[in-house]
Amino acid sequence: MEEPRFLADRMLAKLARWLAFLGYDARRAADDEVDDAVLMEAARREGRVLLTRDRRMPPVKGLTVLVLREEAFEAQLAEVLAALKLKPDPARFFTRCSLCAARLEEVRREDVLSELPEKVRAYDTRFTRCPACRRLYWSGTHVERALALLAKLGLG
Ligand SMILES: [Zn+2]
Repeated sequence: MEEPRFLADRMLAKLARWLAFLGYDARRAADDEVDDAVLMEAARREGRVLLTRDRRMPPVKGLTVLVLREEAFEAQLAEVLAALKLKPDPARFFTRCSLCAARLEEVRREDVLSELPEKVRAYDTRFTRCPACRRLYWSGTHVERALALLAKLGLG
């Protein structure tokens, strides 16, 4: 089966970020995608599974809607993975932008030095950049915290 891609409604922005952390092509609804009809059409057009907690979404031909029961994002993450029988691959963790899910590109520290916060400049780590929104990423405590959470969920 082809790997699913995701579009999460605005209530599930955190879930979308976590799916992207795990390496899935997951994005959250944009500011102009508040309306259900607009959101569903975007998901259908882009071939994405629509993630929502809204049970009133009408069925749309050619669109898969996953209505989540869980409230906490950790439980939602486990719910999505179980529903679609997905097994995240640790080799792909943190390879996508958590905002727009584009694949991150490796950059040299010398080239991005001026954009880094003072304390990060000294880090001996990989730096990556999102080609879409230009956001910079580096390994740091947020990565360790994320890996700890995934391990807790049995996904690390
Ligand atoms: Zn991005």
